[in-house]
Amino acid sequence: MTTWLPQESIRRKRDGGRLSEEELRAIARGLADGELDDAQAAAFAMAVYFRGMQAGECATFTWAMRDTGEVFDWRREGLRGPVLDKHSTGGVGDAVSLLLGPMLAACGAFVPMISGRGLGHTGGTLDKLESIPGYEVRPERARMIRTLREAGVVIVGAGERLAPADRRLYAIRDVTATVDCVPLVTASILSKKLAAGLEALVLDVKTGNGAVFPGLEDARALAASLVGVARQAGLVTSALVTDMSQPLARSAGNALEVLEAARALAGAGCDRRLLEVTLALGETVLVLGGVAGNRAEANVALERALSSGAAAERFARMVAGLGGPADLLDHPERHLPAAPVVIEATTPEEGFLAGIDTRALGLAVVALGGGRKNPGAGIDPRVGLDLIAALGARVTRGEPLARVHAADDGAARAAVEAVRRAFRIEPAAPEVGPVVIERMDAPP
Ligand code: URA
Repeated sequence: MTTWLPQESIRRKRDGGRLSEEELRAIARGLADGELDDAQAAAFAMAVYFRGMQAGECATFTWAMRDTGEVFDWRREGLRGPVLDKHSTGGVGDAVSLLLGPMLAACGAFVPMISGRGLGHTGGTLDKLESIPGYEVRPERARMIRTLREAGVVIVGAGERLAPADRRLYAIRDVTATVDCVPLVTASILSKKLAAGLEALVLDVKTGNGAVFPGLEDARALAASLVGVARQAGLVTSALVTDMSQPLARSAGNALEVLEAARALAGAGCDRRLLEVTLALGETVLVLGGVAGNRAEANVALERALSSGAAAERFARMVAGLGGPADLLDHPERHLPAAPVVIEATTPEEGFLAGIDTRALGLAVVALGGGRKNPGAGIDPRVGLDLIAALGARVTRGEPLARVHAADDGAARAAVEAVRRAFRIEPAAPEVGPVVIERMDAPP
């Protein structure tokens, strides 16, 4: 391509055409180096939103975005062992990464987990980890690699050099209503995962009213796109479609979710649904990565990692390696910040919990200050919900639906009302579906 005119590529996509590899690489480069300005990047995103991308086109754009930055080669860094990861499309009360990363490490894998911040009503692993005093989510490269080597797991944000085209496009999508677009989500997630030098990946694609793509068909389409493109890129990947029609665990909020995960790692018990999703994802990726021969064998290894304290040990090493307190798991309450106002949101009626507006609960956490109201805003790590009641539970009048942790009385009262509105109570017990809905493996 002699002289590339971004507006011609945007026009071609706007009119439903297919972009060539040269054009897609020019767009990715232009995103990274600024040759494509914000208006052009937004127009490109909107054109893809309406016109989509063909599978090959999406794979090419994914590689092109990966190639705008550093691509890790862990063998060169001296790691000897399978490099695995999982990624979730985002939900409410989903602390899987905090458990699964250390559990996989305790099973012999290396897990360089590149995580993100909360988006819209969904929580973000980086925001959760930042509630740990001292924990550095953007460590220097050498510290990140040292921690990965010593703990087997490191959960950090994408550094400046990792897929910079995605960082810019993602920020533009966030403010131009182009987040929920299958090819753009696929290229965004996989460009970073490919740059992270993984050998196997498992994806947790959420469905239900708390998911970014609530409908099952849309979740399936996203899972198929992710698995297909990852496979074309040579990354062994499977996806599980899991339920987000209620918060996954019992807490939603940054420090509160770290506390729930810390207690589970320390052996104080784990919410059943959180554990089920964690194990299902872990079993899948241990088999994909060749660490276990089959899922039953992987299950035994993962359960042992949790019950023996080996996963807790890995988590503690990671936290200390990245600047957090070495005794976080011994005294989580001593280290994690706590909100000054804690009140119960009780039910005014009795019956069975027949429906939960999960997105509304996520937004209640944002309104409390636990998420961002605009990009770049700070968040309050202390606030959120815990003891969230589960779908199907029987409640009597005055029983708690959740406990609200707030910065002040006014915010607490507003959250109590939001929680009450989010729960639907009916006289008959509802059918509660499985948490792991289906699995999608890459065809051989
Ligand atoms: N997570 C990402 O990294 N990118 C998206 O587009 C959506 C979720």
